[in-house]
Amino acid sequence: MIDYTNRNLPKPGVVLTALFVLILVILGLLPHQAASAQTQTLPVYIVQSGDTLTDIANRFYTTIDAIMSANNRTSADALSIGTRLYIPGLSGMKGILTTEYAPLGASLTSLARRSQTQPAHLAKLNRITSPSELYIGRQIILAFDENASPVETLPSVLAGQSLLEIAAQRRANPWQISENNQLSDPIHALPRDTYFVAADHASAGSLAVPGVKSIEINNLPFRQGNTWVVKVEAEKNMQIAADFDGVKPPFVDLGTGNYVAFGGINALKNPGIYPLTLEFTPSDSGAYRFVQYVVLNSGNFETDQPLQVDPNTIEDSNVINENKVFAELVSPVSNQQFWTGQWIYPAADYDCIRSFFGSRRTYNDDPRLYYHTGLDLGYCYGIDIIAPADGKVVAVMPDQVVRGNTLVIDHGLGVYSVYMHMAKFNVEQGQMVKQGDLIGEIGNTGRSVGPHLHFEIDINGIPVNPLTWLTRVFP
Ligand SMILES: [Zn+2]
Repeated sequence: MIDYTNRNLPKPGVVLTALFVLILVILGLLPHQAASAQTQTLPVYIVQSGDTLTDIANRFYTTIDAIMSANNRTSADALSIGTRLYIPGLSGMKGILTTEYAPLGASLTSLARRSQTQPAHLAKLNRITSPSELYIGRQIILAFDENASPVETLPSVLAGQSLLEIAAQRRANPWQISENNQLSDPIHALPRDTYFVAADHASAGSLAVPGVKSIEINNLPFRQGNTWVVKVEAEKNMQIAADFDGVKPPFVDLGTGNYVAFGGINALKNPGIYPLTLEFTPSDSGAYRFVQYVVLNSGNFETDQPLQVDPNTIEDSNVINENKVFAELVSPVSNQQFWTGQWIYPAADYDCIRSFFGSRRTYNDDPRLYYHTGLDLGYCYGIDIIAPADGKVVAVMPDQVVRGNTLVIDHGLGVYSVYMHMAKFNVEQGQMVKQGDLIGEIGNTGRSVGPHLHFEIDINGIPVNPLTWLTRVFP
């Protein structure tokens, strides 16, 4: 310690040494300060169940090494759920990074408004070079401010209307809405563009249509052989039409301002990008038509061992006739939903699955490729078949050449379940069944190479993957 009171001033050498030490200390500190200042501005990803560092690095277009170094981690560190990782290489972005499937109506502008970021940052974050690359179902990365309040979509600004009127109706501050939506002035709001406003709960659709409260497209991303659903909340007497590359499921008005349409995707449809058209016609105005592209992913189907079956069951005349009768059976769309909640397996245990939906297969060395239109549940645990969900038995068809003894249940809204190769029926045509009711017994009739239940779900005549229905609730 230096005592100034007795005027024993330090010698110049001591001062220089002290300065030198001080400089060393500052130099020593600098890199650390620079690093922590840098991580402050990096966006954060919160580790989710099932994540690996490789997944995370790939998702955010970076490397494991770069993530390690940005987070001062070593390879020995385990990645636990909830860990906050700084993600390097995304300068200008901040907040919590999340991934979602691009919803209907998504544009760089609407996503940027919703997440309060700049469209240019989003484009960079997602390597998007053209707005046309924002297909529905594409995985996109967004960054949200952790402390920001949730937002909901503002009702559409109509031609001749301004954000000022909408703000007045909601008793909201129009300038705040403008600022949140990156508009310099409320009068710059465009008709039918999508704007967001702070709300108690997030309900962030991205497509604003007059008279329509919400539009939801479900079961994204679309996959070969899967089910898709469009749910619309709208005013009374709204005419709605959907068309996914030629598949046009009718909308059923459930009577509570809720409209729903179920669609099936053919398991043989090539993965790619397809147009989805939605058209809304309010009772008092013209139609509002909207087209956006949707990503169709592969169903990753397996290939079954070549099968040897009774040649009669692959004979064209038999197959075509039976298919025709069957297609007519499952085509009407009942305008009520008979089922509620989750469906259950129609037979015993899932350990019994003999063949999955969509498997590519050939019969009797015939070069024609078939695909498996249902889920085969084996004979291993029991012989009872139970109704997986409530519905109405619409057909009891004994001795079909291909399908054997077959039962068809209408669950409403265009959704049918079908049971093939049965040994015995326990229900009659026209009977209503409840979930869990005994409907028959597993057999080995028709085109079958051993006792099993072929369980199929058809939507507007298209067989879809039953496993989806056994693992999530529709609509
Ligand atoms: Zn089968």
